[in-house]
Amino acid sequence: MRISQLLFQTMRQASTDIALPGYQFLLRGGFVRSISSGAHVFLPLGVQVRQQLQRTLAHLMEEWGSQEVGLPVLQPLEVMEGQATGTFPGWAAPLQHAVTCGAEEYRTWALLPGHEPLILTLSRNLVQSYRQLPVLLYLFWQAPEPEIRTTWGLLASREAMVLDAYSFHSDEEDLDGWLRNVLDGWVDLIERAEISVRRVIVDVNAAGHPTAYRLIWPWERGEYALLICSGCGWTCDQTIAPVRKPALSAESPQPLQEVATPDCKTIAALCTWLQISPSRTAKSLFLVAEERETVKRPVIAVVRGDTELSPLKLKRLLGVPNLRPATEEEIRALGAEPGYGSPLGITGAQVVVDHLVVHSPNLVAGANRSGYHLLNVNYGRDYQASYTADIAMAQAGDLCPSCTTSLQLEHGVELGVVGGLDHAAAQAYHVAYLDPSGTTRPVLLARYRFYIDRLIAAVAEIHHDAMGLIWPAFMAPYDVYLMTLGRHSPEVSEVADRLHTELHKAGVRVLYDDRDERAGVKFHDADLIGLPLRLAVGERGISEGTVEVKWRHSGEVIKVAMPNVVPWIREALQMHLNPKNSHKGSRQ
Ligand SMILES: [Zn+2]
Repeated sequence: MRISQLLFQTMRQASTDIALPGYQFLLRGGFVRSISSGAHVFLPLGVQVRQQLQRTLAHLMEEWGSQEVGLPVLQPLEVMEGQATGTFPGWAAPLQHAVTCGAEEYRTWALLPGHEPLILTLSRNLVQSYRQLPVLLYLFWQAPEPEIRTTWGLLASREAMVLDAYSFHSDEEDLDGWLRNVLDGWVDLIERAEISVRRVIVDVNAAGHPTAYRLIWPWERGEYALLICSGCGWTCDQTIAPVRKPALSAESPQPLQEVATPDCKTIAALCTWLQISPSRTAKSLFLVAEERETVKRPVIAVVRGDTELSPLKLKRLLGVPNLRPATEEEIRALGAEPGYGSPLGITGAQVVVDHLVVHSPNLVAGANRSGYHLLNVNYGRDYQASYTADIAMAQAGDLCPSCTTSLQLEHGVELGVVGGLDHAAAQAYHVAYLDPSGTTRPVLLARYRFYIDRLIAAVAEIHHDAMGLIWPAFMAPYDVYLMTLGRHSPEVSEVADRLHTELHKAGVRVLYDDRDERAGVKFHDADLIGLPLRLAVGERGISEGTVEVKWRHSGEVIKVAMPNVVPWIREALQMHLNPKNSHKGSRQ
């Protein structure tokens, strides 16, 4: 590709309010343009990077027997089958609705962040027999993102190029094998880009076996919170990590006692007033579970004062899609007092009590009377629950469930989703197959997502220096930056033109800077764009019979004899792309 023909322009300076250096370089190097907050145009150079990743990913998917499908971006809302939006946990609600009036009927189209309902509808029609399973489907598309961060560039853009995949299986073992396949393959790919990645457990089955993971790039500004054990490597999503805390010393239950606690509507104020630690309090959260727009029921969740509720754990336990805080009127309607509420003496609400509260005697809880709390509240003796379960959010310092080392909190950005698709959803859509004996059985499903643009963004943040980007070879938009030194030299242009043609014929992807610019400008742009190799053809080199080659990652400069340039470049790139293979090769 000749730069003179490329839709391309580098910039001296990107916006000064962009704090991320890698994103600055993507803008300045002409890979992407920001057209509005959080919205990006990919210019040809940026598209080349995307396509490199897409090719690598597609190759992996095909190797695993997966088949590519094309799915519509706007989906008829009827694929949701009259379900209230977001009925199944993990399904985001439609982002936009558009109603069109066709020749005969009105139809509502929705912009959904995924294709789960459509895939379920499709598979109900297409998958019938055990002989067809497993089925593995994938697609690339520019998915709308529900959450954006305008200053994060491609890490949280309004739309992002992703690989989505879905797999259908007849049994757990098959599904599990495929999950591990994808997990290992994608982790390898991310590590090939020299980006560190964590396999975070986000769901487990009844037997405690992981059924879904996220691939997280540890980045301290990221909003994804995970807990990690330095002892055994156990890594889990903070919202679902089981809570283990050191056991309390045994205490026998003391008699209930009401105390005045004026202006103590928060745990912090209460603890200051009573001079106790938050772990000696029970915090009652008044919530409303919403199933469909018309079905609402009150829920009181009780967690210990030193923990926070994990809404996800509670939603999964109750099997409800939405939980919202109750209004003061709704709390009073139950007979409770906002700020001084507890389940004591309250009927008409579903009560869920966290395990830690169950095992902590003599806690302080609201008296359901303004300005008063109760001392020595004991679960079982003083109030009952519909469920007792682990509903609290695990924290740094809690104990690892595998080895009891104390856990650390880490933040990051999601690069991949491996596994997890609500089986209840699959059943609701009646996705089933006939087994060899002719019995109907439910199909097991899993979904996968690889965030292509986010990996590009992560690479830009990690692999750059003061001058610009340094692409890992397999992601680089081109292999070689070929440039001429000195202007108006027909001989230099002729040699460079010839090299361009020969390298292209040899399968090397060349970005040819044939502009009539000063050498300084070209060196600057070559460093900014960050291709693995730079090739400079100048009058001095020609008279010596050499070409100057420079590695972008190490800065090493090598003079290569003119006749050897093409084979030298090919071999150097090969070794750079597959250091393991070439090492093996050289020993054989
Ligand atoms: Zn551990």
